[in-house]
Amino acid sequence: MHRRFWFAARVGRVLRQALLVPLFMGVFAAGAVAQEITFFRIGTGSTAGTYFPVGGIIASAISSPPGSRDCDRGGSCGAPGLVAVAQSTRGSVDNVRQIRDGSLESGFSQSDVAYWAFNGEELFEEEGAVSSLRAIANLYPETMHLVVRYDSGIESVQDLRGKRISLDRKGSGTRVDALLILKAFGLGEDDVEDVPLASGAAADALREAEIDGFFFTAGTPAAAVQELAEEALVELVPIEGPPVEALLADSPFFADQMLPAGTYPGIGATHTVSVGAQWLVAESVPEETVYQITRALWHPSTRQLLEKGHPKGAQIMIEKATEGLGVPLHPGAERYYREAEVLQ
Ligand code: GLU
Repeated sequence: MHRRFWFAARVGRVLRQALLVPLFMGVFAAGAVAQEITFFRIGTGSTAGTYFPVGGIIASAISSPPGSRDCDRGGSCGAPGLVAVAQSTRGSVDNVRQIRDGSLESGFSQSDVAYWAFNGEELFEEEGAVSSLRAIANLYPETMHLVVRYDSGIESVQDLRGKRISLDRKGSGTRVDALLILKAFGLGEDDVEDVPLASGAAADALREAEIDGFFFTAGTPAAAVQELAEEALVELVPIEGPPVEALLADSPFFADQMLPAGTYPGIGATHTVSVGAQWLVAESVPEETVYQITRALWHPSTRQLLEKGHPKGAQIMIEKATEGLGVPLHPGAERYYREAEVLQ
């Protein structure tokens, strides 16, 4: 070998060793003390809904990235090594499908959608049962909103015939419920002029008088409805009467709800229907991970975040965590509820 090349090769080798040895030791040393990071996604809904802000609060409450200060020293009380994020999605149906397909570890879903997905019924009859769904907790009741422009002339569900209405997009749980309500009143998808929009876009379209109304199944106060109510642009149409009573008698997921006056500025008491919002997780997420997540969800520090973060947060209570679940509990969640004596 030419002397110059020999020299360069030797310098190169020495340099490589000089760099690699500490690098290797560094990795080794870090590996010895570092906690593993576990990324955990929570599928929510549109940003103008309630899933998204509540999901954001829960994501930060259950996260405890490696190196966080201990819980009892004012640090994070989340699941050790967990980094959770709330992702905006189309809603319940989309979340369930993404959990099945592995693009989400967890997600929020209406209890009706969760039950139908797990059992392969209704809209899941064709694509088949999603038997890998498990529950972490029942969270809070979601209200079926039928929001109309003040000048739309719509006073009941029957009045929707021929009107420009957003039933929400395919993949949302809202759309599933909207179609059920229409059907209960003898109306089909084609009896309204369907403009499928996410709640935020529906609120904008309504403001511009491009649509007459929209459905939205979400915890109150939902941002998309709140802003329109503040602008005195909307009314809430009651979802009531014999067709609704028949629907309630037929389905264990829906409950009669009287939305109190003032839930939204300027809007009186409204008779409607509610359905549970539940937090679902893939069966494949390890038992210990889900146990730690469930523990963090019900930690007293999380309660403070929930109560300050969103009015619906205060209604998320451990006493209701196992009520009306559409799918079985994840074994990790079940272990926590047995220890906490929520389950006997
Ligand atoms: N329940 C709605 C859905 O599944 C979403 C509600 C929300 O975004 O808060 O489509």
